[in-house]
Amino acid sequence: MKGYGVSPGVAIGRAVIHWKEQIDIHQEYAEDPERELVRFRTALEFAGEQMEDTHEKILHNITPGESAVFKSHGSMLKDPDFVSRIEGMILDRGVNAEWAVKCVSDSLIQIFESMNNDYMKARSDDVKDISDRVIKLLLQVGGIDLSSLSGPSIIIAGELTPSDISQMDREMTLGMASEKGGRTSHTAILARTLEIPAVMGVKGLMDEVENGDLIIIDGEAGLVLINPDDETVKEYEERLRQYNRFRESLSGIVGLKTETLDGMRVDLEANVASPKDLDDVFNNDGEGIGLYRTEFLYLDSSILPPEEAQFEQYRCVAEAMLDRPVVIRTMDIGGDKKLDYLSIPEEQNPFLGYRAIRLCLDRQEIFKVQLRAILRASAFGNVRILFPMISCLEELRAAKAILEETKEELRSQKIPFDESIQSGIMVEVPSAAIMSDVFARETDFFSIGTNDLIQYTAAVDRGNEKLSHLYSQYHPAVLRLIKTVIDNGREAGIPVGMCGESAGDPKLIPILLGMGLTEFSMNPSSILRSRWIIRNLRKSDLEAPALEALSLGTAEEVEEYCAKLLKSLDPGR
Ligand code: PEP
Ligand code: MG
Repeated sequence: MKGYGVSPGVAIGRAVIHWKEQIDIHQEYAEDPERELVRFRTALEFAGEQMEDTHEKILHNITPGESAVFKSHGSMLKDPDFVSRIEGMILDRGVNAEWAVKCVSDSLIQIFESMNNDYMKARSDDVKDISDRVIKLLLQVGGIDLSSLSGPSIIIAGELTPSDISQMDREMTLGMASEKGGRTSHTAILARTLEIPAVMGVKGLMDEVENGDLIIIDGEAGLVLINPDDETVKEYEERLRQYNRFRESLSGIVGLKTETLDGMRVDLEANVASPKDLDDVFNNDGEGIGLYRTEFLYLDSSILPPEEAQFEQYRCVAEAMLDRPVVIRTMDIGGDKKLDYLSIPEEQNPFLGYRAIRLCLDRQEIFKVQLRAILRASAFGNVRILFPMISCLEELRAAKAILEETKEELRSQKIPFDESIQSGIMVEVPSAAIMSDVFARETDFFSIGTNDLIQYTAAVDRGNEKLSHLYSQYHPAVLRLIKTVIDNGREAGIPVGMCGESAGDPKLIPILLGMGLTEFSMNPSSILRSRWIIRNLRKSDLEAPALEALSLGTAEEVEEYCAKLLKSLDPGR
């Protein structure tokens, strides 16, 4: 079956189907309300046990105050008012338990949300989290546990979310394929970070594959082969060996400088999602962390991560990198990264909606906790702060004002942090790219996020597999915006980096160097290959071709041009 190869490599193994049911709750007449009552009480009890387990797991990372908040979640399950209202509804109105939980929770959420008090508003998230947990238990939904697979497996799914991937058992996940998803969906990015071969956008996949089928994933060609013949298996086993040999050969350039043949130094940094990725950064010789996607800390948790837990993670990364830069991006929730426990209403256009800095400026109590944790970690390394999705100057000013307020709080509490910490913005919305000359006056650095910049410039949802042909990193309009940002940054004397997936694209690297980009941040697995390419290029050969590429009319023409250029610059490739 054909889809899009989103993470390279070959995987051969047995299929494990990961299903997920839509949580769709309807009102039903309960023939036996007493039985419903028992179902409800059992689910409540299990939910309590689950919360207790999670609490124990994270106990060492949280302060007593935060632990109390966690306990209050648990005690809500025993709250007589909450419980009796649900039980009353089941018995008096004879409805199914899940409907009663939903109705009572919705009404509480509405009450909390209408209160003019941040603390009470935040309680609505608690209610949502608890009711979701109980409803999932009642409906027995949730799919397989991806974190503990019983053997080496190929995961087959309708859709895989970023939090599915971040929970995956790395050792046991050989490869994966799904019906939904495109190349720069966050799920795909994580698959590349974890070096798991993956194919997405495979129509009809779930109808064709059964648990236990022998599957080959070809992450380069975008193929999923189901129960292939022996000859095909042998052919792919050979390709797997070749691929592994290629990866090994790159280890020869670990420790070498990243510079062009004519001496231009380039920084090759890594994108990470958690301290778990640090091994990959070191194994691939990353020269810093150019993008730490902190939202995965929030996605991996069933509550808002407390300050202490965040601080520990950020400090761990900052300390591990010694004096090398660690750019910590404030949480970029929203779009395809949904947080169940933050009751964010469904939106018509989530990627254009309440996400990233917009959410943080609206929910300052959440934002400040994160800023405190990042600032505290800055005392332990070379930390920088990055604000995502900035679309106008007002947002940048508001974010900086909150950062200053937070610093002031820490100073008054005598808590150390790096007083000269730098803060920069993601340039990933066309308005920010177009106005980058103005932004450059008020920010310390730019980081170009091509994944979103492409989707917003070309108006193409980055995760929609039906539109993959329109979503291209070679779109001339995107390249022109990139050039504008690099030029404006240089003019203002501030550093410009790129952390979107384009930064690790071998075909684009020569053009980007030609435009003057010197800081690249990418999946750790792309670093050595990129260094090898850069070490074979001469910057002075690239300036004219970069301008030429910018003058082309279509993405296809640009891609073809870039491919030829790469070949001509290194005939041996
Ligand atoms: C980007 O948009 O290019 C980026 C790096 O951020 P993310 O992929 O997390 O949206
Ligand atoms: Mg982005």
